[in-house]
Amino acid sequence: MIQGEDIADVIVVGAGAVGLSTAYQLIQARPTLKVVVLEKEARPAFHQTGNNSGVIHSGIYYKPGSLKAQLCCEGREELVSFCQEHEVAHDVCGKIIVATEERELDGLQKIYQTGLANGLAKIEMIDGKGVSAIEPHCNGIAGIFVPYTGIVDYVGVCQKLQQLIDAKAPRHRVVYQAAVQQIQVRNDVYELQTQAGLIKGKYLLTCGGLYSDQLARMEGLQPNCRIVPFRGDYYDLTPAARHKVKNLIYPVPNPAFPFLGVHFTRMVDGTIECGPSAVFSFKREGYAKTDFSWKDTIDALTFKGTWKLFFKHWRFGINEYQQAFSKGIYLKKLQKLVPSLTIEDLVPGRSGVRAMALNPDGTMVDDFLYVHHHRSIHVLNAPSPAATACLAIGRVVSGEAIRHFNL
Ligand SMILES: Cc1cc2nc3c(=O)[nH]c(=O)nc-3n(C[C@H](O)[C@H](O)[C@H](O)COP(=O)(O)OP(=O)(O)OC[C@H]3O[C@@H](n4cnc5c(N)ncnc54)[C@H](O)[C@@H]3O)c2cc1C
Repeated sequence: MIQGEDIADVIVVGAGAVGLSTAYQLIQARPTLKVVVLEKEARPAFHQTGNNSGVIHSGIYYKPGSLKAQLCCEGREELVSFCQEHEVAHDVCGKIIVATEERELDGLQKIYQTGLANGLAKIEMIDGKGVSAIEPHCNGIAGIFVPYTGIVDYVGVCQKLQQLIDAKAPRHRVVYQAAVQQIQVRNDVYELQTQAGLIKGKYLLTCGGLYSDQLARMEGLQPNCRIVPFRGDYYDLTPAARHKVKNLIYPVPNPAFPFLGVHFTRMVDGTIECGPSAVFSFKREGYAKTDFSWKDTIDALTFKGTWKLFFKHWRFGINEYQQAFSKGIYLKKLQKLVPSLTIEDLVPGRSGVRAMALNPDGTMVDDFLYVHHHRSIHVLNAPSPAATACLAIGRVVSGEAIRHFNL
């Protein structure tokens, strides 16, 4: 282990998809650097990456010219090649986005145009018959078929990235159960107080997901944005109901919110998940409905952006809360897409918590965001589709580090 007087060239904090990809891309570009990844949990992908929907996003939703659009499209291709090369379970099976009411048709058309602007030339507008030819149990008046979308085992991706990093141990290493508790700089060397002891390094890259803002603050930065956690609960379809969904069925999302709406996803193990919802969580890593942390709640509620968000979207918030506690309400939403679903078809599934970076005015930080400090780069916002885009984000962040720090 790199510890005590041994000094790493670069310390990466976080063994989610973004941290591991950043370390991997850095090592690919500069194999002689000594790189150490610090992770507070006992295994990779423990939080957002390992609890997400497992979708390889196409890039159809994101503002043309944004980092999200660019890195999602690039990252998707890199991710599929990576999975092919390293035999990680995945399937580029395509998805449909479905309008069930006339008033959604404008939104559907806008998504289609955005997709074309983002270079997705093979997407297709389809009518109701086209929808049922792809998904026989789905009710839709029109849709978009997106052949670029897929499903993948993100935990498998991270395990493989970790193996590739650890293959060069002790030069490169992933250290688990090494929560970073304090960051100090002495004589241009970072000294990180961690659960696994003192770790030193010349440069620092943090990819802390739900704690990205706190890691930046630990180094003395005062980022404008604050991470506010949003839990998403899933239901699973029972084995008897799985035939009602072949692959992935998405609604037309409400453009006022950064969430895609509850959808159906075939996972790589063949199960079908429905969700996720989006409710404010009283704990950053709170996966159960009743999880609560004073510290996280005070942190969120003393930030004026959180209140502005609540006031602006109170109706959406109440709906999502009702849905979180009522299977019947959740079912109604799902039945818009697959009317033959019954309450017996659904069993409660797992939950994930999204790290939403909020601005002080209550708006979401829309794009991926990283900031430079003295000898560090902090990834402050890496929401969906950051798992899809992880290898591209890792290339960009490691490239910035190489250029900026002359590595
Ligand atoms: C419910 C849900 C569904 C989603 N669906 C999709 C999808 O289908 N497709 C997609 O592309 N994206 C999806 N996303 C988004 C995607 O999962 C995230 O954008 C991505 O995983 C972010 O990766 P990350 O490495 O930044 O964060 P994380 O995976 O959260 O990793 C951050 C890591 O940092 C560690 N860490 C934090 N603080 C410290 C510390 N002090 N010391 C040491 N380690 C620390 C954490 O333990 C964690 O392991 C979804 C997200 C959620 C929550």
